[in-house]
Amino acid sequence: MPMFVDHSPPGQCIFCRLVAGEIPSAKVCEDALTVAFMDIGQVNPGHVLVATKRHAVTLLDITPEEAAAVLQTAQRVARAAQAAFDPPGMTLFQANGPVGGQTVFHFHLHVLPRHEDDGMALAWPRKEPGGAVLQDYAARLRAALQDG
Ligand code: 5GP
Ligand code: ZN
Repeated sequence: MPMFVDHSPPGQCIFCRLVAGEIPSAKVCEDALTVAFMDIGQVNPGHVLVATKRHAVTLLDITPEEAAAVLQTAQRVARAAQAAFDPPGMTLFQANGPVGGQTVFHFHLHVLPRHEDDGMALAWPRKEPGGAVLQDYAARLRAALQDG
C-alpha cells in the first residue's frame, strides 16, 4: 500500500502547488511544458519526477506536445543521472489511476536509477495466450485507434 495518496482537487494538488512554487522542491530543470524535481521518497539516489506544468491527471489527459516534452525532459534527466550517479540500470515508470499505482493525481513520469538488489519490484504475471488471442487484441486496438 502507498504511504501517501493526494486527493486534492485540480489546481490545488501537491504538484500544482510545487510547480507554482508554493511548496519547496529540489528542482532539476524545466522547460515550457515540464518540470523535473527530486522525488521526496528517493527509492534510489537520483530518483527524479518529470511532471507536466499544467494539471492533467493521467497519460490520457496530456496533449501530444506535453507527451513529447515529458519524454525529452526524461531523456535529459536520465543522461544527467547516468553521469552524476553512474547506476548500472535505469527504469522509467509512469502510473495511471489508483489501480495503476498512481498516488499523486497530476501526471508525472519517474526516472529511477537502478542497482542490483535495490528492492524495487513489479510483478509481471505472463499469460502467454497464444497467437490467435494476440491477433484479436491487436484488431480491437486497431479498431479503437482514432488516427489510424
Ligand atoms: P506515483 O505513486 O503517483 O507514481 O508517484 C508519486 C510520487 O510523488 C511518490 O514517489 C512520492 O514520493 C512523490 N511525492 C509525494 N509528495 C511529494 C512532495 O511533496 N514532493 C516531492 N518532491 N515528491 C512527492
Ligand atoms: Zn496538479
